[in-house]
Amino acid sequence: MRSPASFAAIFLTCSLLPVAQAQQDSIRTRNVVIITDDGLRWEEVFRGADSKLIDKQAGGVEDPEALQRAFGGDTPEQRREKLMPFFWTTVARKGIVLGNRDRNSPVRATNGKYLSYAGYNEMLTGNADPRIDFNDKRPNPNVTVLEWLSQRDSQKFRVSAVAGWDVMPSILNTARSGIPVNAGWQPIGGPELSTDAILLNRMMELAIRDWETVRNDVFTFWVAMEQLPRTRPNVLLISLGDTDDYAHGGRYDQYLKAAHQFDAHLKELWETLQAHPQYRDSTTVIITTDHGRGHSAPGWRDHDAKTPGSEEIWIAVMGPDTPPLGERTDTREVTQGQIASTVAALMGELNPFRIAFPKAAPPIEEASGK
Ligand SMILES: [Zn+2]
Repeated sequence: MRSPASFAAIFLTCSLLPVAQAQQDSIRTRNVVIITDDGLRWEEVFRGADSKLIDKQAGGVEDPEALQRAFGGDTPEQRREKLMPFFWTTVARKGIVLGNRDRNSPVRATNGKYLSYAGYNEMLTGNADPRIDFNDKRPNPNVTVLEWLSQRDSQKFRVSAVAGWDVMPSILNTARSGIPVNAGWQPIGGPELSTDAILLNRMMELAIRDWETVRNDVFTFWVAMEQLPRTRPNVLLISLGDTDDYAHGGRYDQYLKAAHQFDAHLKELWETLQAHPQYRDSTTVIITTDHGRGHSAPGWRDHDAKTPGSEEIWIAVMGPDTPPLGERTDTREVTQGQIASTVAALMGELNPFRIAFPKAAPPIEEASGK
């Protein structure tokens, strides 16, 4: 790592390209974990539970009083900290949080479809693609930053993914990319299974499934936690999504509980990373979502081109290269596609990534301290 003084000297004496290289050399991140929560609105992230939806009619809530006790509060700050305590007491203090439209920090998906496939594609490739107007298991014609890193040097970049949604292998085009992905209700494979893996596989087999095509987060997350110390990826995608499916089902109570559980998973993830020598103080965690949702009843259940609010998303980043700027206010608009270049930058590969994908959106400046 270069000191600020030597960095300044380089800046004064060299052309722009070596400066960009010097910035890349100074990166302390050695691992990146992207963890996504499908369709979690910025409204809940920044304002907490919406009291208008804590209602039998508007939110399909079984016990509004109990939900109000669990997640209600007088101010947005009180409510959001009840809903996502780790996010607000740790992520927001150690890293940056973008997307609070009440504080003029807009973050937006630009793909115009606001369906999950289009969102993950934009997030992971750096570009919106108008061809992707479906959510089917069709192989992605585009190359994600995960695939690009893996193909660039599979020894250096050990990429893997664990997802609840069984379309993720298509989004990552596993047939072409070769990225190992555990998705949907897929059991943990391998010749020698750990006792945790055997138990998880047994539970996944026996669980009453809320959705056939989407695995409940508790399983997806613990599959990721079982694999992490065993396979030790340095670029990992964990894609969770109970929030989206409970919202589509019109259950605001379950949606809030899923957001609260997502926060608990974030805490567990961070503590696991910090307890492991490969990951401790050298891992950047990017936390985001694939799309927003409608603003009020009944729009909050849905997301698509016709539902205003579906384009409004949020991004949080925490790691050794991200300054602790906290919740950002009055920022320039950040777009979903900037995540791909941010991952490339954090893994020290920004210049080659941008040469390979000149149209990819630039990295989020604040995320890598640049
Ligand atoms: Zn959805």
